[in-house]
Amino acid sequence: MTDTRAAMTLGNMRSLGVRSLDVHCHACDRRVIVPAGRWSDEVEIRRLRFTCLACGARGRPIDVRPDWTEMPVPGSRQGSRARE
Ligand SMILES: [Zn+2]
Repeated sequence: MTDTRAAMTLGNMRSLGVRSLDVHCHACDRRVIVPAGRWSDEVEIRRLRFTCLACGARGRPIDVRPDWTEMPVPGSRQGSRARE
């Protein structure tokens, strides 16, 4: 089975043009964008573990995913769109 979401690595993520991780703490609803440059390509995203700096939660309440807002949108070559 090829479930790319289940075993996505940082290498996969970078090949999609995404270079940061979107780390969301469900315990306190804090959200941080973390540059992924410090980890190597073969690291699986779901294996990364973060500790929330705001409330100290770690493990399960912390949701880590690629920062999809960085992914180039296909077919949107006509200039840049404001994101905020
Ligand atoms: Zn937190």
